Amino acid sequence: MVSPVEVDLAIIGGGCAGLSLAVELAAAEWPPGQRPRVALIEPRTDFVRDRTWCFWPVIPHAFDAAIRARWPRWEVRAPGRQVIRGSSRLPYVQIPADAFYEVALGRLRAAPNVELLLGGAVHEIVDAGDHVALETSAGHLRAALAFDSRPPPIAPGPAPDHDPDATEVTLLQHFVGWEIACDRPCFDPTMATLMDFAVPQGDGLHFFYVLPQAADRALVEATYFTPTTLPTATYEARIRDYLGRRFGVRDFAIELRERGVIPMSSAPARPRASPRVYNIGLRGGLAKASTGYAFLAIQAHARALAGRLARAPRGAPIAPPPARSELAVAMDRVFLSHVARHPERAPGLFADLFERLPPELLIRFLSDRATPLECLRVMSTTPLAAMTREVIRSRGRWLRPATLPLADA
Ligand SMILES: Cc1cc2nc3c(=O)[nH]c(=O)nc-3n(C[C@H](O)[C@H](O)[C@H](O)COP(=O)(O)OP(=O)(O)OC[C@H]3O[C@@H](n4cnc5c(N)ncnc54)[C@H](O)[C@@H]3O)c2cc1C
Repeated sequence: MVSPVEVDLAIIGGGCAGLSLAVELAAAEWPPGQRPRVALIEPRTDFVRDRTWCFWPVIPHAFDAAIRARWPRWEVRAPGRQVIRGSSRLPYVQIPADAFYEVALGRLRAAPNVELLLGGAVHEIVDAGDHVALETSAGHLRAALAFDSRPPPIAPGPAPDHDPDATEVTLLQHFVGWEIACDRPCFDPTMATLMDFAVPQGDGLHFFYVLPQAADRALVEATYFTPTTLPTATYEARIRDYLGRRFGVRDFAIELRERGVIPMSSAPARPRASPRVYNIGLRGGLAKASTGYAFLAIQAHARALAGRLARAPRGAPIAPPPARSELAVAMDRVFLSHVARHPERAPGLFADLFERLPPELLIRFLSDRATPLECLRVMSTTPLAAMTREVIRSRGRWLRPATLPLADA
């Protein structure tokens, strides 16, 4: 048998979470002689623009150099309502995936202890007690610790029934986006449309997301929060219809297509699959359940994880940092329970949040950085009687811990 490649840390998957962790490990301060040998295994060899990450930059992260657009104003639309808000200090920023990959891979190629095993997939991960054995398409790999970012299986759950505490809420955020170029100016490049709910709701809770890069160019996404995905033709027909109705755009070139399915679940996160195998990225529960945002949480988690590893003896298991705060998870569970039960109320709820809260407070809330007092203020913008009923009804969900202990993972 060929002897396995031996490393200290194996990162499985070189998408957002895997590359971010590798970049943070390369940048971390290590005691002399303790810098770990890292291998990152990723099936792709070509890193194209397969998605676009947007967020409000409320914390420092390693990818400022990849930001390609900033919107100081944003809007939310609901039938008969338009709420415009903004912040010049905290604009909504965009990182196209190709720019992210370029920055990350450039840094990792210059990092002496990081090996990029591109074009290889991991088939099996076995925690052998004192090491992790990985079966990959390129052979065996032996690591002290492994960090798994393979996409989690998507298992839509049933809609909540009359026993609201009996089942998990598992919706999907699913969308198809086109980046289009038109032959005349149609968009306002200073304003992002975060949610436009003034669209047909026949297939479930549905909104449009519009990011104009220039007056004649925008990313336009048809998004749903429902238990199951739709045929591609349905999203595409909705996009054409929306472009015609809202912007009078009928002739355009599609320059890029993206699609996504992100779980929106009340289930606890699983930070570890076993003592030496950690889940990171969406697999580790880093997506905000009520919005699907994960980019900034992944950055914060990667930095905290690298810091803990740098302070621990080389190759020793560590307690993983929490994926998200208990408070943020509890708030999301109440919100998800309410939206799953009353999808028709979501447009008004979102419009109220944007209208009634100071923009930077809402940004902190949406970025999981709100204090308990700020969370109370957020709750106070919602219809109080209905929300109080929801808090009581969904207590079986939000009173649970945000993460599963290792024994249950
Ligand atoms: C289209 C799209 C747009 C999004 N937009 C935003 C946004 O605007 N803001 C935001 O905050 N979040 C956004 N998200 C959510 C989230 O930030 C992304 O999904 C993010 O990429 C999640 O990172 P990840 O590392 O968990 O998964 P991924 O980035 O998907 O990485 C998983 C990696 O695992 C690799 N892999 C798969 N199988 C194997 C295997 N067997 N062995 C080894 N590797 C394997 C894959 O090739 C991939 O590179 C978006 C998601 C999508 C899909």
